[in-house]
Amino acid sequence: MLCCQSTVALKGSEVPVTKFNGKNGLDVVCLTVSMFATNCYLVFCTETREAVVIDPGANGKGIIEKVKSYGLSIKYIINTHAHVDHIGANGKIKETFKVPILLGEKDLQIYEKPAFGLSLFFKKQPKPDRLISEGTRISFGRVYLDVLETPGHSPGSISLLSENAVFCGDTLFSGSIGRTDLPGGSHEQLIKSIHEKLLVLQDHVVIYPGHGPITTPGNEIFANPFIDLSG
Ligand SMILES: [Zn+2]
Repeated sequence: MLCCQSTVALKGSEVPVTKFNGKNGLDVVCLTVSMFATNCYLVFCTETREAVVIDPGANGKGIIEKVKSYGLSIKYIINTHAHVDHIGANGKIKETFKVPILLGEKDLQIYEKPAFGLSLFFKKQPKPDRLISEGTRISFGRVYLDVLETPGHSPGSISLLSENAVFCGDTLFSGSIGRTDLPGGSHEQLIKSIHEKLLVLQDHVVIYPGHGPITTPGNEIFANPFIDLSG
């Protein structure tokens, strides 16, 4: 196990929940939502319970229930990118907690015109309130997340970095990498982002991807078949 982790038993239609102790006063709850099993993260300051919601892809009701059960005060909704399975419950969360939606500035076009041809299944979401870019610091309680631009999966894909954690959306997965065949995707850019922004992080930084299990830079350098450090 990479860090202190516990998975909570499920009841009925509840969303699957995994709780991580992210260290240095930052806690992480992962909720698995949408038909694509998107990881929606509640990231919060252990001391003040101020929090952000990263990628509320669907199941707004389930997410809201968890926010309440953990006693969190939501400050922002942040999307790692604008694909429908990462933004589908933005509206519901915004309406409930009256908080702004933050999105990487280069993904605005995708946000306004969702790909996948799945617009029928996903309601149009309220516009982002703030466009963010490399170096933006998002503070809540006594903790923060810094924006790293990690284009490739989409032009405006971002990762969010704290001292011991990085939330990388669909840029890098445990044992795999993000797809680049959707509008605005670029394999070359994706590989560059992974190498220059994620694999350079120290190994105590836990990688929280947009789908699937957590990992670390060291694990991916060692075991990810898509990563080649020889050339
Ligand atoms: Zn995506």
